[in-house]
Amino acid sequence: ATPTAVMVGTGVGASQGVLIKGGQALESAHKVNCIVFDKTGTLTVGKPVIVNTKLLTKMVLREFYELVAAAEVNSEHPLAKAIVEYAKKFRGDEENPSWPEARDFVSITGHGVKATVHNKEILVGNKSLLADHNIAVPGVAEDILAEAEKMAQTGILVSINGEVAGVLAVSDPLKPGAQEVISILKSMKIRSIMVTGDNWGTASSIAREVGIESVIAEAKPEQKAEKVKDLQASGYTVAMVGDGINDSPALVAADVGMAIGAGTDIAIEAADIVLMKSNLEDVITAIDLSRKTFSRIR
Ligand code: ADP
Ligand code: MG
Repeated sequence: ATPTAVMVGTGVGASQGVLIKGGQALESAHKVNCIVFDKTGTLTVGKPVIVNTKLLTKMVLREFYELVAAAEVNSEHPLAKAIVEYAKKFRGDEENPSWPEARDFVSITGHGVKATVHNKEILVGNKSLLADHNIAVPGVAEDILAEAEKMAQTGILVSINGEVAGVLAVSDPLKPGAQEVISILKSMKIRSIMVTGDNWGTASSIAREVGIESVIAEAKPEQKAEKVKDLQASGYTVAMVGDGINDSPALVAADVGMAIGAGTDIAIEAADIVLMKSNLEDVITAIDLSRKTFSRIR
């Protein structure tokens, strides 16, 4: 392609909300034959909502959620925001309730949070968070988790003073049109893979729903990047699509990193292409544009 054609290509992209940072990104995109998708906020809407709460203590919901919200209000994680939003329900019409003070707050990336509230040690997160604190998950809680995961929901465990006190089920539905995008990519001979920090059960259910056959769950940020490099080593030209801080190493490692416009600044900075409208269809727009600019048939 001539420099003029590349300029035209990036211009057309910009006018369609596909921000291409330079000619190299536009060129690489037409060679992509494998796309690694993040789950939360990329394939899914990314605005999780609490759909169920199972208490395993004698506490009432208002009391329980006060402790949970006090711990989570310090976290930036989308799940934390969903939990705090939900907890407000139990405080009547207070728009911005003041939660009890949380001491010794710690956020454990990919696992959850820990804090001391009303002199109680509160943990909110996944099974590995509890395992790392030597807290046993009773069979009844395991069953609730498995049930949630089967329905493509994420189960979140809450422990109070070392005992599992409740399980929350969180739903984060697929973005509209996500299935169609995956099926169009298939027809374009492009393989789709999902990587996520979420658990295997939920990840597999979401993947089945969207039509992706290859899944990697419980992945740390470096493992997402490693997966990209493995695919490259086996001969694929790889695009990574993601929105989170935890996707940035993979966005950098990929031949083409594509960030969701509504994502975090760090992901947007790490990417070669930004999907300003946050539409998954624009993954195809970007590849089509590159194919048109760089294919011999013009
Ligand atoms: P993803 O790759 O899907 O964006 P993360 O790596 O951010 O997921 O998180 C992985 C898992 O860790 C979540 O699915 C959740 O179970 C748990 N987790 C992380 N942060 C929190 C939090 N603030 N509160 C509760 N659970 C959390
Ligand atoms: Mg994400």
